[in-house]
Amino acid sequence: MEKFDVVIIGSGPGGYIAAIRAGQLGLKTALIEKCKELGGTCLNVGCIPSKALLTSSDHFVFAQKDAAKHGIIIDNAHVDLAKMQQRKDKVVKTFNGGVRALMKTNKVTTFEGLGTISARGKVSMKLTNGETQEIETKNIIIATGSAAIELPFAKFDGKTIVSSTEALNFTEAPKKLLVIGAGAIGLELGSVWARLGSEVTILEFLPRIAVGFDLELSNLLQRSLTAQGITFHLETKVSAVKIDNGHITSTARKGNEELKFEADKALVSVGRKPFSEGLGAEKVGVEFDEKKRIKVDKHFKTNVDGIYAIGDVIAGPMLAHKAEDEGIACVERIAGKDGHINYDAIAGIIYTNPELAGVGLTEDQAKEKGIDYRVGKFPFRANSRALCNDELDGMVKFVADAKTDRILGAHILQHAASELIAEAVSVIDFGGSSEDLARTCHSHPTLSEAVKEAAMNVEKRALHIVNR
Ligand SMILES: Cc1cc2nc3c(=O)[nH]c(=O)nc-3n(C[C@H](O)[C@H](O)[C@H](O)COP(=O)(O)OP(=O)(O)OC[C@H]3O[C@@H](n4cnc5c(N)ncnc54)[C@H](O)[C@@H]3O)c2cc1C
Repeated sequence: MEKFDVVIIGSGPGGYIAAIRAGQLGLKTALIEKCKELGGTCLNVGCIPSKALLTSSDHFVFAQKDAAKHGIIIDNAHVDLAKMQQRKDKVVKTFNGGVRALMKTNKVTTFEGLGTISARGKVSMKLTNGETQEIETKNIIIATGSAAIELPFAKFDGKTIVSSTEALNFTEAPKKLLVIGAGAIGLELGSVWARLGSEVTILEFLPRIAVGFDLELSNLLQRSLTAQGITFHLETKVSAVKIDNGHITSTARKGNEELKFEADKALVSVGRKPFSEGLGAEKVGVEFDEKKRIKVDKHFKTNVDGIYAIGDVIAGPMLAHKAEDEGIACVERIAGKDGHINYDAIAGIIYTNPELAGVGLTEDQAKEKGIDYRVGKFPFRANSRALCNDELDGMVKFVADAKTDRILGAHILQHAASELIAEAVSVIDFGGSSEDLARTCHSHPTLSEAVKEAAMNVEKRALHIVNR
């Protein structure tokens, strides 16, 4: 029986990054993936294809609506959706090839098949070529990720009631698209199809969109998306989704009112659940929490020696970069190094236009914790580069400790928020203050000057707005 130092089950950003780090550290490593391609949800049906479509559809809106403002006249801008989808698929394929090459260069043995833990230190595999094989290992890392949550009254049929996977692959823009759930996935895919011509209605049970993000900026995002033609119904509880002749009728309650929505397709984006069952983990005594997530300590160790878990299958935000960093830290611990994660410095991003990014505490969370805090804000309408770019929506907002000035949270709404947030993440990770950031020289003219000005404004000394 072949013996390894580490066997990783699941090749998403958690698993394949853990495999690379293990290879770098000289550990004999195997990576098992049940799907044909490596890369997991993120690369195949998540982050990457969604961002490819978001970019393409954003270019279309520019060509159709905004180019003329720049003196660029594009007559009859229209979409060739088949070509747009082919481009997206090519992006995914290119990255698939890259991950496979990285496994080779890092001397990671890959197996295509379903992996299950047969005993402590043993993993058996049902390979896609029909064979079964068992391998021995000192350490097992479970990185099996998550799957979309289904509503009991709106079961996925893959055609009319769909999850994000199918909504990434529509061959034509639905005339009317109903989106259930106003989190990152619903807002991003709702945006894609609204830009490509669908009439999009988003229903959300909570009184706000983008839960977990700063409320003030989430409300501004909702305003922008509404202006782009998306209709929102908040505090709306969907109770039925019926398909009749390929057409959807959905019933929902908003206060005392019963609402009916008609649509061609419904995207259910109400969250994801860990992929933790049927793995054999329970058989060897691994403990789960109440949400069926695998319980781990702060070094990703389960209660069973030699078994670890990372990524979406454990607690914490379901984000690719969180899974990646957990993969690195977990393997470093296995190799006797001191890998660790600062969970206060993990940004969440919604890649709409404008993008919404946030890291650390929101203002409401600071309030709830009874922290004495100060806020510094700066609007992009007062930033020179945003004016050049014609991207004036949004602002930067810092939440800083009133006594120590340490930055507790940073929130950005802007077309480029996903890139701008990285500076705030670094400063938070280093335990920096708003003054540290305010005294750092930022190039001119850049959007990042708005980040500096918001940091300055914690002391009400931003330069390009009048503070009263
Ligand atoms: C539409 C969409 C958009 C997203 N956009 C973003 C984004 O922009 N940014 C971001 O940070 N996050 C995003 N996410 C979330 C992100 O994809 C996940 O957080 C991330 O993929 C989790 O990584 P993981 O390694 O834990 O698991 P996964 O990526 O889910 O990978 C797990 C892998 O394990 C395999 N597997 C499961 N069981 C077995 C088994 N028994 N044997 C062998 N293989 C197995 C699965 O086939 C899968 O390939 C998005 C998700 C979706 C659905």
